[in-house]
Amino acid sequence: MLQVITSIKDFKQNITTFKESQLSIGFVPTMGALHEGHLRLVRQAKEENDKVVVSIFVNPLQFGINEDFTQYPRTFDNDCELLSKEDVDIVFNPKAPEMYPNGFCTSVVLEHLEDKLCGKSRPGHFRGVAAVVLKLFNLVKPDVAYFGQKDFQQTVVIMRVVADLNLDVNIKVLPTIRNKEGLALSSRNAYLSGTEKNDALCLYKALIKAKDMVNAGTKNTKEITAEMEKIINNCKSAKIDYISIVNPETLEAVSEVQHGDVAALAVRIGKTRLIDNIIMFFLIAVMWINLNVQEIQSCSCSANFSSHRM
Ligand code: AMP
Repeated sequence: MLQVITSIKDFKQNITTFKESQLSIGFVPTMGALHEGHLRLVRQAKEENDKVVVSIFVNPLQFGINEDFTQYPRTFDNDCELLSKEDVDIVFNPKAPEMYPNGFCTSVVLEHLEDKLCGKSRPGHFRGVAAVVLKLFNLVKPDVAYFGQKDFQQTVVIMRVVADLNLDVNIKVLPTIRNKEGLALSSRNAYLSGTEKNDALCLYKALIKAKDMVNAGTKNTKEITAEMEKIINNCKSAKIDYISIVNPETLEAVSEVQHGDVAALAVRIGKTRLIDNIIMFFLIAVMWINLNVQEIQSCSCSANFSSHRM
C-alpha cells in the first residue's frame, strides 16, 4: 500500500522502522510528472530492494529566476496512481518550506563540474541539484539510488558528491528511455506542440550521426560536432545551446574521441530547452563489454550506458 508522506518527521520514523528491520531501501528521486523513464528506475529499484522510496519534489533551488519553476508540470494524483501500480512503498512529497526552512543557507559547490555543459546557461543549477540530493540521501538513507542517463551531467555530479563526501550509497545509472522515434522521454516534452515534438527528433538524429561517424572511424570531435550542428540547424524551430563531446568524469571537451566519451547537447525547440546525450562506444569495445558483462554488472557504482527505445 503506497504511503504518501509530506513531513520530514513522519518520513524519518518510517525510515527508522525499515532500518530496524534491516530492510534494504531503493530510492528514486524525481520532480514528478512521471513517465516511463521514471518508471523503469522504479521497477529496477523494486527488483533489487526490500523497500522502494520515490521522492516527488520540484526543487526550487535548481531553477534559475527566469526558468520554468512555476510552469513545471505537476501531476501528483496521476503520479501516485502510477507508483501504486508499481507497488512503491513510500512517496515522499515535502513542500518547499519543509525542505528549506527560514535560515537555510548551505550550498554544495562543485568546482570544475558545475560550470560545464548545462551549467554554463544554468548557473547555480547543479548546486541546487547536489544540495537536494544530499538532503534526500540523508533522509532516505538508501542502499541504492537510481538515476537516468538522460541527465548525464547530473549523474556525473552526483557520483562526484558521493565519492568526495564518502556517502554510503550505491548509485545506479540506467539507460535513457525514448519514444519509438527516438525522442528521450522528459516531463518537459509536455511543453512541446505536435510539430515541435517532431522537430525535437533532431537531437536524437544528431547523436546518432555522431555515433555513426565514430563507428566509421572519425575521431576528430570538431568534424563530428560540425555534422551534428548541421542536423540541428536544419530544423527551423531549433536553437543550439551547446553541443560537446566530453570526458565522462571531468566533463572537459575532448579533441579526439576516446572510448566512453559522451556526446551531449542542449537545444531549444521553440521555448523548450531539451537535453540528450549518447556514449561513444567503439564497436570493438562494445564486443569486449558484452564478453565481460558479468564483471561490469557486479560494479557497485554502475552505469548502463545504452539507450532503450519503447
Ligand atoms: P526528473 O523528474 O526529471 O528530475 O527525473 C528524475 C529521474 O528520472 C532522473 O534520474 C532522470 O535522469 C530520470 N529520467 C528522466 N527522464 C528519463 C528518461 N527518458 N530515461 C531514463 N531516465 C530518465
